[in-house]
Amino acid sequence: MPLFASIRTLKGVGEKRAALYEKLGIRTLWDLLCHYPRGYEDWSAPRLISDAEVGVPCCIRGWVVNTPSEYRVRKGMTLYRFRVTDGYRSMQVTLFNNPYAAAKIRRDEEILLYGTVVSDGRRAEMTSPQIGTVAAAKIRPLYPLTEGLTNKMIETNVADALAVAAKVGLPECLPTDCVVREGLCDRLTALQSIHFPKDHAALEEAKRRLVYEELFVLQLGLLRLKGRNRRQNGAVITTDYTAEFVRGLPFSLTGAQARAIADCVKDMKGDSPMSRLIQGDVGSGKTAVAAGVAYSVIKAGKQAAMMAPTEILAEQHANSLQTLLGDSVRVGLLTGSLTPAKKKLLHEAIANGDIDFVVGTHALISDKVQFADLGLVITDEQHRFGVAQRATLAAKGKNPHLLVMSATPIPRTLALILYGDLDVSVLDELPPGRQPVETFAIGEDKRERAYGYVRKHLDEGRQGFIVCPLVEESEEIDLRSATEVFEQLKKGPFRGYTLGLLHGKMKAADKEAVMAAFAAGEIQLLVSTTVIEVGVDVPNAVIMVIENAERFGLAQLHQLRGRVGRGKHRSTCILISDNRGEDNLRRLGVMKATNDGFKIADEDLKLRGPGDFFGNRQHGLPQLKVADLLEDMPLLQRAQNSAANLLHTDPDLSSHPLLSQAVERLFAQVGEEGLN
Ligand code: ADP
Ligand code: MG
Repeated sequence: MPLFASIRTLKGVGEKRAALYEKLGIRTLWDLLCHYPRGYEDWSAPRLISDAEVGVPCCIRGWVVNTPSEYRVRKGMTLYRFRVTDGYRSMQVTLFNNPYAAAKIRRDEEILLYGTVVSDGRRAEMTSPQIGTVAAAKIRPLYPLTEGLTNKMIETNVADALAVAAKVGLPECLPTDCVVREGLCDRLTALQSIHFPKDHAALEEAKRRLVYEELFVLQLGLLRLKGRNRRQNGAVITTDYTAEFVRGLPFSLTGAQARAIADCVKDMKGDSPMSRLIQGDVGSGKTAVAAGVAYSVIKAGKQAAMMAPTEILAEQHANSLQTLLGDSVRVGLLTGSLTPAKKKLLHEAIANGDIDFVVGTHALISDKVQFADLGLVITDEQHRFGVAQRATLAAKGKNPHLLVMSATPIPRTLALILYGDLDVSVLDELPPGRQPVETFAIGEDKRERAYGYVRKHLDEGRQGFIVCPLVEESEEIDLRSATEVFEQLKKGPFRGYTLGLLHGKMKAADKEAVMAAFAAGEIQLLVSTTVIEVGVDVPNAVIMVIENAERFGLAQLHQLRGRVGRGKHRSTCILISDNRGEDNLRRLGVMKATNDGFKIADEDLKLRGPGDFFGNRQHGLPQLKVADLLEDMPLLQRAQNSAANLLHTDPDLSSHPLLSQAVERLFAQVGEEGLN
């Protein structure tokens, strides 16, 4: 395929320029054709001077009134000035130190100027515009550049590469029915128009084609991974023990919990192993779902493992799971801080099947951990785990079932993509009696009153949290670090109360001791960093104060707030912030207005933009070039359906080599087990 030849085969591309291209990851003609513009300059529809928008660069078409006059302003600074008229109005054009451009300006010539018009209503001016002949009236691509490589060079090289593509032809890679149904243009046209669109309609058409293709390939890859998981069911569950599990519970399941467990059991009875995501807002009772699913697996004589992101959480899960599952199930806790002797004993018990359900941190994926018969792998709050870790744990069984639990309130639309390889059950119902957490945002001046309010709750026998942002040692600012706040509160506003301190730098055993004391009610007020963000469940804790609330993202604030409002008592969250910035006020406003994690996630997405949303998460998805996962949602859904249809008739894509290659290229960045 000539398009996979080196870009050095292009005219004007030598060793030096090839090295520059290499910096942009471009080696072949095809790479170059896939180096899409980051934006466009519209020279195609010039405006009248009086129609130019304030501060927005645009293209003006006009006639040169006089040849440029030269002004030597000072040493090394020469101005060239001339006037241009569009027939209605004229403007002054100023060029700095550019004799070369000035020399080309001829009187009465019609030219295009691209720049920003500055006008005071009477006089209009444009400074240092780009100048072109009327032949340049096109939509011009703006490429991502690197030093030494100009836009013009890339334009020329791309044009040459497109000529090669036109000569050799670009075979259609998408199934014909998709092309027809979606009304897509062909690949060559799409590439020509994405680089050099003849008008806006052509550009839109090109984008639609490329977006569809990209999403189609993405979905193919995700569905194939899913298919790979679904080969044989290594742990078929023949009997549903849910009813027995429910009889032992201290509460009755919510409808959503019951449905989620039923979904899982149905999956596990099937021919292929389960791959399911339980998505539920904080406090929706995911742990009980995990317990219910594990119960049937364990009663079938197999083992279950649950991986949690922190030791605190692992320990808490081990305790609650043991309570929920009852004495007939042996739950073990494996964390990095166990003594070597204890670890060894536990490893043995896991290996010979004396432990039914192992809960642990990433210590679980150590080589030393071998299971007698691992039938179910559960990961909690999985956004904290690399996808590869999930896979490593799963590899310890023979095609075990996979259950992923996430509270990360990912907007529903994004879940489809992020978890395109998993089935999803949503816990859209909170256990009965929950009341929304009342939320206030206050300034520093009301701090004392807030503390009074906290004391009132503590006096009534409740517990509370004071959350402080993480403070890096390098940060010399007046942020209130947890340790400092703890000392102050203990001596001042909360003298006589029992306070605990919890932060990430503490030893695991100390952290556990503090958490245990808090859970047991021995600590009334816990001063903490975000280590409590994930999953901590103490229903008697009803009040939370968050210091420097501007330092936290919306999703994080929601997670933190989820630590209260977990029991029958009415709960309160107080956000302290003196930051009057617009974004911050909006964030705090959202927190006050709603307790719904999905709404909050949507707002978060709007505030931060999807790039950031994705960038901050280890989602393991390949980087997309043209598709915008939010905006292109309807297209994505259709692409997913079509991809599923295609895989139905051609599961290993053997009759679609082009697509197969495209999938491999897209997913090469993620790695094989990347999305497992
Ligand atoms: P999360 O979904 O945030 O992990 P948890 O599993 O920690 O939520 O559950 C939150 C709290 O709700 C726990 O104290 C748990 O015992 C309780 N809970 C869970 N399910 C129910 C239910 N159906 N009825 C009453 N309380 C429940
Ligand atoms: Mg949880």
